[in-house]
Amino acid sequence: MTKNKHLYVHIPFCNNICYYCDFTRCKYNEDLVEKYLDSLQFELSQRVDNFDIETIYIGGGTPSSLTELQLNKLLTMLKPYTNSVIEYTFEANPDSLTLNKIKLLKQFSINRISLGVQSTEQRLLKLMNRQHDQTMVEEVINNLNTMGIHNISIDLIYSLPTQTMDEWKNTIDETLLLDIKHISLYSLTIEENSVFNKKGYSNLDIDIETDMYFYAIETLNKAGINQYEIANFAVEGYQSKHNTAYWNYNDFYGIGLGSSCKINENRFDNTTNFIKYFNHNFIDIDYKLSTSDNMFEMVMMSLRMKKGLDKNLFKSRYGFDIDIVYQEQIKANVKKGNLINSDTNLKCTDSGLYILNTILEEFLLND
Ligand code: SF4
Repeated sequence: MTKNKHLYVHIPFCNNICYYCDFTRCKYNEDLVEKYLDSLQFELSQRVDNFDIETIYIGGGTPSSLTELQLNKLLTMLKPYTNSVIEYTFEANPDSLTLNKIKLLKQFSINRISLGVQSTEQRLLKLMNRQHDQTMVEEVINNLNTMGIHNISIDLIYSLPTQTMDEWKNTIDETLLLDIKHISLYSLTIEENSVFNKKGYSNLDIDIETDMYFYAIETLNKAGINQYEIANFAVEGYQSKHNTAYWNYNDFYGIGLGSSCKINENRFDNTTNFIKYFNHNFIDIDYKLSTSDNMFEMVMMSLRMKKGLDKNLFKSRYGFDIDIVYQEQIKANVKKGNLINSDTNLKCTDSGLYILNTILEEFLLND
């Protein structure tokens, strides 16, 4: 059995709450962070039993909201797991990633930064309650490059309430002026628990959202930042190894509040309750997926990638040929021009990728 080589670590604290956000997070509080890091250390020692981790992703929340001292504590506890690490990602917001923190990250071998930029338009940043501006973004990117961290990813959001196509085009164009290797796009859905919802904002028209998505694909591909997954784009060689492990439906550890972990057919969802977490009651839901659930999950994750699903990997994992398990769905969707089925891979066409959820509904009917 291959060992689990991927580790996600959740830091749920943020200096500031964005109006669109519905993630597991809370406002930064020094005492809470201290207690949290202690529990995290305990969870790590109890639940992560492989030290040969290849990818680590510290996400949030906003991991860069931690002070230098707290960051030092976090990175020191993770150090024993980093001997074989090839991609070590740290999520940050431009307003809290200081030069000293970057130096610390470098010292602990972090080699990839995922930066929450979201937009380059000041009006929209204000609407979202983001605390940075484009000058800060440029400064952080400059500092990262100076410190030798060149693998930089930027998150952008589109389909924001009141956002115009021109504002989206500006954001894409201005982002392309920065020296970055990877872009992740998020189409905003106004979630029930977000401030946007409480303020009465509604989603943008679906036609504008579609235009924004296709504009981004065309422009980024032309600039050599190629789409390799529904919402992710990279310069060749800079595709996220950690996220690709999720999309290949590999196993992964997940520690921290609200994180998930997959080990073979077992899934573990962590609690989102601080009190339970501080009492070391880490796992909230623990369940076993059937083979047919697992086969569907692998299809669902792998079809997100442009290269699609590795048919040999599917067979080696589940003992079944995907062409037989999903014979009807594959045939029908190839005929409709949604899927391409070769000897080695099953993948979406460009138009199929956009309606992946509809395709997956048909695969789900197999149960
Ligand atoms: S979007 Fe990110 S930075 Fe903003 S509140 Fe949510 S987790 Fe925090």
